[in-house]
Amino acid sequence: MAHGAQRSPLLPPRPDLDLARECEVCLGWGTVVTRDGDHELCHACQPASGGDESLAVTDL
Ligand SMILES: [Zn+2]
Repeated sequence: MAHGAQRSPLLPPRPDLDLARECEVCLGWGTVVTRDGDHELCHACQPASGGDESLAVTDL
């Protein structure tokens, strides 16, 4: 009785709206829509999550 198919629609990633609030790129949404119609986190205001271990420290 197990349903193999997961029927969850692709939800947009959850942005941090506090960071997005004053962003002009995503207009406060925290996400942007790609040409393919996918939602992805706004690069301008949202910290990159997951993926690469990032450079939390910026030293100049
Ligand atoms: Zn933004």
